[in-house]
Amino acid sequence: MGDRISDLQERIAAAARRAGRAPEEVELVAVSKKFGPETVREAAEHGLRVFGENKVQEAYAKIPECPGGLSWHLVGHLQSNKIRPALELFDVIHSVDSVKLLRGLERVAEETGHRVRACLQVNVSGEAAKFGLAPEALPEALEAARECPHIEIAGLMTMPPFTREPEGAREHFVHLRELRDRCADEWDMPVDGLSMGMSRDFEIAIEEGATWIRIGTDIFGPRR
Ligand SMILES: *Cc1c(COP(=O)(O)O)cnc(C)c1O
Repeated sequence: MGDRISDLQERIAAAARRAGRAPEEVELVAVSKKFGPETVREAAEHGLRVFGENKVQEAYAKIPECPGGLSWHLVGHLQSNKIRPALELFDVIHSVDSVKLLRGLERVAEETGHRVRACLQVNVSGEAAKFGLAPEALPEALEAARECPHIEIAGLMTMPPFTREPEGAREHFVHLRELRDRCADEWDMPVDGLSMGMSRDFEIAIEEGATWIRIGTDIFGPRR
């Protein structure tokens, strides 16, 4: 795993340099879904500190068995009935995909005294099967976020549709970046982060401005 991680870090740095960016601007989220605590421990021994999970239930069982001092991010869809454990487990929620969920998070965060960093997930391609806000619904979600003092909107997140060539994702990453810029310019709600890019397309995502990349396979190998 050490070789895969150093390889990956070199590719991240090279992609950042190609885009005239500092490699430190890109935070690696190691997506450990379907791998156990011993695998997380090994990755932590190689210096990784930020881990991602896509299911609250799996994370709930796994995280207590993992080394302390790690930061955990939720990258998958969050159901309303799992908000409470999600706030206990995760520092960042990348997948806020509806105004209803945003309001639910605020309600529970207020009640339990949590503060949460969140990304609004945008379905930039309009694919019916994907979670996420329609781009047109983003201004309304930002308005709603103003009324959520316990939630910091730390970024926008997207999952592009699968294309045969990873290059097909580029236009969707550009689209997300443009939406992020409009948050400040048109909607008076500055948002910094861009959570985009997975194993197959993270270099393109970095070239287009990603500040978080979510990588599973290239670190841990194929999932069963
Ligand atoms: C599984 C997953 C990833 C990582 O995917 P890889 O292709 O294995 O790098 C990233 N983001 C989300 C939301 C995921 O569910």
